[in-house]
Amino acid sequence: QAKKAGRDTLQFFDPRMQQVVRERATLEQDLRTGLAQQQFELFFQPQVEDGSIIGAEGLVRWRHPGKGFVSPANFIPLAEESGLIVPLGEWVLRTACEQLARWAQDPALSELVVAVNVSPRQFYQAQFVDQVLAALAVTGAPPSRLKLELTEGLLLTDIDDTIAKMVQLKQHGVGFSLDDFGTGYSSLAYLKRLPLDQLKIDQSFVRDVLTDPNDAAIAKTIVALGMSLGLRVIAEGVETEAQRAFLHEHGCHAWQGYLLSPPVPVAQLETLVRRERQTA
Ligand code: C2E
Ligand code: MG
Ligand code: MG
Ligand code: MG
Repeated sequence: QAKKAGRDTLQFFDPRMQQVVRERATLEQDLRTGLAQQQFELFFQPQVEDGSIIGAEGLVRWRHPGKGFVSPANFIPLAEESGLIVPLGEWVLRTACEQLARWAQDPALSELVVAVNVSPRQFYQAQFVDQVLAALAVTGAPPSRLKLELTEGLLLTDIDDTIAKMVQLKQHGVGFSLDDFGTGYSSLAYLKRLPLDQLKIDQSFVRDVLTDPNDAAIAKTIVALGMSLGLRVIAEGVETEAQRAFLHEHGCHAWQGYLLSPPVPVAQLETLVRRERQTA
């Protein structure tokens, strides 16, 4: 039987492979438990435009009881594969909207926009639009303060479905940003059809923007492309003043990165904003 099924099946009997499979199963179970027991927290990284904080990106954090803090890079892919991204993504959306609704009551914070990362699998669900609208309605968050970050992976499957969903949400005022731009498979023909508001320059191009002429050329090209398509452009992963200045000089006036702040708990973000507004 195993022989007939071929090489993939045989590999399963490799003890190392078995170990990997077992660890994944455990992590998946932990993820389920973690969701039920509210082990997740949404951190916020400020986004700056023309020198002031205009909002923040929500980045999920998992405090695993045994392993401590687990990076999203290690559990988002598994959550995607197992489908757990759907309830996790819903929790993230709800949490972000609750925050927006709270900020709406506070004149010092009411203008802030929250960017939420959306995985392809989450976006592809038939109920995705309803899920977002429900999160907005239940919490009372202003839809125009919500920005969804999509990745190029979405463009691989059903472009018409993607556009239809985006259009519906845009009609309610929700904004869209294309995350990690330039690292995936976007074609310019698709890009032009998507009702986007913003392109996000991936941090892999920002890191060496001052020393690698290719990265500098890519960053400048993304800015020019964004301008000609009428989109805003934001750079992620800005760690130094020199990177920020370079990007600014080349027309990219929005950024986020360790230069100002890593992702932090919401109270810390609020402190940053209030401090900035006081000294302004
Ligand atoms: P991303 O959306 O591209 O987020 C940017 C990542 O860069 C974040 O990693 C952030 O902490 C990190 N970062 C921010 N500033 C700097 C900097 O100046 N230098 C460097 N080196 N890194 C910086 P994080 O929080 O570990 O998240 C990793 C990825 O996991 C995210 O990439 C996103 O794709 C995914 N993710 C995080 N939260 C969620 C979520 O709620 N839902 C979904 N679907 N994906 C999420
Ligand atoms: Mg993002
Ligand atoms: Mg990104
Ligand atoms: Mg990235």
